[in-house]
Amino acid sequence: MRADLHVHSTASDGTDPPAEVMRRAARAGLDVVALTDHDTVAGHAEARAAAGPVALLPGMELSCRLDGRSLHMLAYLFDADQPELAAELARIRDDRVLRARAMVDKLAGLGVDVSWGQVAAIAGQAVVGRPHIARAMADSGAIASPREAFTRDWIADGGRAYVGRYALDPVRAIDLVRAAGGVTVLAHPRAGRDTWVTNEQITRLAAVGLAGLEVFHPDQSEAERARLIALAHDLALVPTGGSDDHGSLTGYRLGGETTSAEAYQDLLSRVPRPA
Ligand SMILES: [Zn+2]
Ligand SMILES: [Zn+2]
Repeated sequence: MRADLHVHSTASDGTDPPAEVMRRAARAGLDVVALTDHDTVAGHAEARAAAGPVALLPGMELSCRLDGRSLHMLAYLFDADQPELAAELARIRDDRVLRARAMVDKLAGLGVDVSWGQVAAIAGQAVVGRPHIARAMADSGAIASPREAFTRDWIADGGRAYVGRYALDPVRAIDLVRAAGGVTVLAHPRAGRDTWVTNEQITRLAAVGLAGLEVFHPDQSEAERARLIALAHDLALVPTGGSDDHGSLTGYRLGGETTSAEAYQDLLSRVPRPA
């Protein structure tokens, strides 16, 4: 069985619509694919309608902050209409808009010719994020390619035009998802400096109900994977894997990282039983 549990679509910052993601999942020979757009489930209906031979695991990637640093939490199989969870998601998305507008203002102050209208047009129906601003910057000629926006000169964390945003405490995220009938997996804890999560922090999250740890991720080295497998074993967390495919933005890599059948079943077994 092949399951890719971390994939983005145009519902957030991926480049392919959910239906196309499902078609690519079939071509990649996957049995299960999780659609995990940032802070939204808006792509699920289209993905479900197009599921075909590949099973859709409904999910999302929640924006969190722990000890002043960004952290991403994957969530699966929750009820997105659960009122408390729905309210938090709306708050996160509303703040994304305010924050994107503030970054556009800062860029204008730095002489970059981008407007909110351009960024909004690029984002379309998607949850707006920095990749949309990066594309507007490239369109304006300020930078040669969107990738160049993610430096300290521009909109990388701490950059000249960077603006922080509202993010959930991961302990609250774990609680909210569990109350909505779902499970949480800590995304790419060792993918890079901006989202590095320590053993001590992971231990704290495991103690409050975290179900899994994303071990198999393209930005995690073999050495870190080995450390994470050992840690997952020690803390009784499920070791998962996913490609974090964003379409052409990351290079097409759907199915490049997967979750084992055993781990997948273990994750499903941790879904809370309805009271
Ligand atoms: Zn992430
Ligand atoms: Zn992701």
